[in-house]
Amino acid sequence: MPQRLTPLEIMTKLISFPTVSRDSNLPLVDWVEDYLNGHGIRAHRWPDPDQPHKAALFAHVGPWEEGAVVLSGHTDVVPVDGQPWDSDPFVVTERDGKYFGRGTCDMKGFDALAIWALVEAQYADVKRPLQLALSFDEEVGCTGAPPMIVAMQEVLPKGSAVVVGEPSMMQAVTGHKGGFGYDTHVVGYEVHSSIMHTGVNAIMYAAPLIDWANAQNDINMAADPSDIAAVFDPPWTTCHVGMIKGGTAHNITAKDCRFMMDFRVVPGEQASTWKEAYLEQVRAAERKMQQVHPDAHIEVKASFAVPALVPETDGEAETLVRALTGDNATHVVSYGTEAGQFQEAGYSAVICGPGDIAQAHQPNEYITIAQFNAGHDFMQRLIYKLAA
Ligand SMILES: [Zn+2]
Repeated sequence: MPQRLTPLEIMTKLISFPTVSRDSNLPLVDWVEDYLNGHGIRAHRWPDPDQPHKAALFAHVGPWEEGAVVLSGHTDVVPVDGQPWDSDPFVVTERDGKYFGRGTCDMKGFDALAIWALVEAQYADVKRPLQLALSFDEEVGCTGAPPMIVAMQEVLPKGSAVVVGEPSMMQAVTGHKGGFGYDTHVVGYEVHSSIMHTGVNAIMYAAPLIDWANAQNDINMAADPSDIAAVFDPPWTTCHVGMIKGGTAHNITAKDCRFMMDFRVVPGEQASTWKEAYLEQVRAAERKMQQVHPDAHIEVKASFAVPALVPETDGEAETLVRALTGDNATHVVSYGTEAGQFQEAGYSAVICGPGDIAQAHQPNEYITIAQFNAGHDFMQRLIYKLAA
């Protein structure tokens, strides 16, 4: 019989693959596939046709029927470039009651526990199926999960309760904001600034769009939050510009100004409403620019879009996780995850994973051994429940 690895051994293996989002994750996927196959579990891949060096992987254990619990994680990690690490980021190093390494917390620790659980479920004669879903490109805007979810539904019986193991200190997180962004490129018309009335200064047309975001934030902050929004911090939709670039000289009307306009929308409000509101501002600015020069225009390109995770009423995933963890408090987070994408595809979804999000993406990223063990306990209780 092939060797059954411990969760720590699996995590050590996963972290040895430097699966930074820009690079290939295939060596990791190959390894997971071989390991599962070795235990008689058929793994399925979704190879990304646009990025041949990347693939998602999913698998099913137990009775061939609908209603599986799905353990969902991403295989990619953020870069370590320029970060001061005290040990090799791609070697799990134990010190001070912690496992250090890129992805220990976000989120190969959970991935390892999920792979471990799938193999255990294979030997435990589970009555209810368990599925594993490992995506890629989560860290670059959650773009890998949606096609994987479609592919899973074509190949496997549909699961019903999804546990997305982003670090939550093993608490049941039932909601997060949705997010989307627009890469905005204002294209002006260059003239000497002494005759600026004949040119179109891209920076000066970008400024009112950005100030519109300021005004929206003020309005949102002043309004009474809805019940569903009230649990978030902050309890309102935020509009944010984190990057801007433009102009070539102080005395030339700027030809180009690019900025990133991002929105984080509270559950209960529609992302499409905010998109339309912003695009209306863009079109109005463009009309004014073109009155000065017909070549001036504004290009907007969607940069990312992640649906909100809307807290469910008596959600199946939430109920399961609460039963396994004993956590009955209300938790929501302000960052996006793949849970909203599973929910949008018709699954009940919750976030619950070991580790603290504060350690994610940091130099010397770690997961405490206590949290990793808490994740292990969770998986053991899950297998027990599925076999009962
Ligand atoms: Zn993550």
